[in-house]
Amino acid sequence: MTSPQQVSMPYYKATGREKEVFEHAFRNKLPVLLKGPTGTGKSRFVEHMAHALNRPLITVSCHEETSSTDLIGRFIIKGAATEWLDGPLTVAARQGAILYLDEIAEPRPDVIVAIHSLTDHRRTLFIDKLGQTWQAHDDFMLVASFNPGYQRGFKELKASTRQRFVALSFQYPEPKVEAEILCNETGVAQDVALKLVHIGNKIRNLKELGLTETASTRLLVDAAKLIHTGLPKRLSVRVAIVEPLSDDPEIVGALADLCDLMI
Ligand code: ADP
Repeated sequence: MTSPQQVSMPYYKATGREKEVFEHAFRNKLPVLLKGPTGTGKSRFVEHMAHALNRPLITVSCHEETSSTDLIGRFIIKGAATEWLDGPLTVAARQGAILYLDEIAEPRPDVIVAIHSLTDHRRTLFIDKLGQTWQAHDDFMLVASFNPGYQRGFKELKASTRQRFVALSFQYPEPKVEAEILCNETGVAQDVALKLVHIGNKIRNLKELGLTETASTRLLVDAAKLIHTGLPKRLSVRVAIVEPLSDDPEIVGALADLCDLMI
């Protein structure tokens, strides 16, 4: 759990009215769903908002094995006795933290069931193993992310689940704004940042390669960091942008050739 007092405000460049929406959702005790491809700043936005609202942030990176027990808690054996250990959802609901469920379409269906009563007017958490129902702290907030992924292999989120959230869409920012993010995050020169953004946009438009993920802001930031510390530009782009996107040697080769011309 990150305590807001311990770190300085995480840098987040707003691209619309998302900060305002989030603040109002918090005030109205409404859960928020952040929709958008990976690496578009969703996690950074939540870190920034938790800091701005002075709430602790608890992040759970969901995967297909994540279960309601992982979120709510479990009995553990301590010596000869068993002891109850709160899971992150229970801790957040009790303490008034922001719980960020990253990739909410991934976990087992019982996770969605577990959060139901917390996402509506009841704001209660039922802990079946203890036979207890808890009222969430006034400042508790649930935030989830979802990658709608128009490509193959992405999981869907049920309409009934989506409707429990206020939803915000995240996309790759305008080139000028994305270059500004790169400069701020890494200290790289503006002309280099603009070239990296140009590469990013070129790859994003190459639909025919069938990449499951594309060149996200995160990958561009990584390349910018390597360049800023002195790694040659072409090598930086290759290892930070091209190689992470595909394992197919032909695709890697084609992308590398393309990028070499652009940096
Ligand atoms: P997501 O959660 O959508 O996968 P992240 O929040 O982890 O993406 O963003 C990846 C990286 O991209 C961040 O660590 C940050 O460096 C950068 N980034 C993306 N968008 C922004 C933004 N709007 N403001 C600041 N940094 C951003």
